[in-house]
Amino acid sequence: MKIEDNIETFNSLVKRRGFIWGPSPEIYGGLAGFYSYGPAGMALKNNILNLFRQELRYFGFGEVECPTIMPEIVWIASGHLDRFIDPVIKCDKCSTLYRADRFLQEQLPDQLIDGLSFKEMENLIQQNNLSCPKCDTPLNKIEEYNLMLKTQVGNDVTAYLRPETATTTYLLFNRLDQDARRQYPIKIYQFGKAYRNEISPRQGVLRVRAFDQFELQLFISKQQEMEFEDYEEIKKNTLPLLDWKNQEKNFYKPEIISLEDAINKNILKKPAFAYCLYISYYLTIILGIPEELIRFRQHSLNERAHYADDAWDLEINTRQFGWVEICGVHDRTDYDLKRHAEFSKQNFEVNMNPETEFKEIPQVLEIAFGIDRIIYTLLETTFYVEEGRINLRLSPALAPNTVAVFPLVKNKENIRNLALKIHRNLLENRINSFFDAAGSIGKRYRRQDEIGTTYCITIDYESLKDNSVTIRFRDSMEQERVNINDLVDMLRKKFRNSK
Ligand SMILES: [Zn+2]
Repeated sequence: MKIEDNIETFNSLVKRRGFIWGPSPEIYGGLAGFYSYGPAGMALKNNILNLFRQELRYFGFGEVECPTIMPEIVWIASGHLDRFIDPVIKCDKCSTLYRADRFLQEQLPDQLIDGLSFKEMENLIQQNNLSCPKCDTPLNKIEEYNLMLKTQVGNDVTAYLRPETATTTYLLFNRLDQDARRQYPIKIYQFGKAYRNEISPRQGVLRVRAFDQFELQLFISKQQEMEFEDYEEIKKNTLPLLDWKNQEKNFYKPEIISLEDAINKNILKKPAFAYCLYISYYLTIILGIPEELIRFRQHSLNERAHYADDAWDLEINTRQFGWVEICGVHDRTDYDLKRHAEFSKQNFEVNMNPETEFKEIPQVLEIAFGIDRIIYTLLETTFYVEEGRINLRLSPALAPNTVAVFPLVKNKENIRNLALKIHRNLLENRINSFFDAAGSIGKRYRRQDEIGTTYCITIDYESLKDNSVTIRFRDSMEQERVNINDLVDMLRKKFRNSK
């Protein structure tokens, strides 16, 4: 089977099996950049969130939730109204709007466009006499296009839908400071919707106008950034790091290096930042994304935000879109809290070291995951076609159904009743079971393989006599006869081993 066939099959599976539908609303033709999740997609998303929340409790993080709409002053202070812009080129004749960096990358595939200034991009347009692909009119000026979605609250309050969760978390700082009883660093995260008015969203769920973010912050002192207790526990772990210096030399193979070595070689500056890279890597690995498809790419000075001290993207190598960023790790310094202190006239200077009187505004280290991108890359990297059989190799903790229960035949009442009893017993034991009595047994297996169900259990005539069932394993397709009374224990044991 050719790779393109596989991608076609994959894209159709995502819709056909109820993971992601859209653009929404489909019956009205769809609005670009907006998608809906079907039952399988929602189950997968919830399983990812459950896993993340469990793990973050272990690392000592607390969770908050803030409104998705905030008044204008917030976005003036955060700098989004000034700086959250994309460069665009507008055709003078047909008024088509192009996103300048993407347009240039398509027209000049050999040029490095990332990180160029507006002026540098304008020069490239002129040097290469680029014109509008639709009407052939020469293009020239690059303009600013703000990505914020504006709305009105009540009669006269101008507000914006948040373009990230992070800013709304910073606004809670004095509350968090009290809540944590001034124990630093404060570790916090927020999950929720964010909105960006992309000019022409493409690439399906990778670039959307409404999306789920999962953003973690450390509020930390300057001293703690350099002497961080948690770092000592994780510094021997190795990560695939591709620093900016190597990219400049057109060298794109990441170096597998321990965090300790990365600090010693000055690839990373701060142990607390290294810890953040580790957390983001750990949360990616436990989803089951293969190590060899992961790299951390450091931003160039041009690419990173003007206030950021360091920034790395965690990227996954996909078949359909190449390297895709699923997470950004940013050293935001004290920029955000300083700005919000200034605009709100609050004092955010706190004493973070009980042994001294010294007061400072905390530094912010941030780990920003895009949940939709995680879902896309996870589906793609676990998708296999083997001899015509589609198999989604999701881990049992993430699969929409852990177990599916089938009565062999539909119209034999005692087989059906026993199957239902087993199904309900699994649910009562908190094992995600799905009951399916419709269609041939082969088709039922195939349906479950396609959404990654780890185990299928079939109840047949024999089951009525010997109280046993057939359990079939998704990846090996091996079958085993198991006593009904042992089923729950056996499945529990299997989950533990698969974690
Ligand atoms: Zn045109």
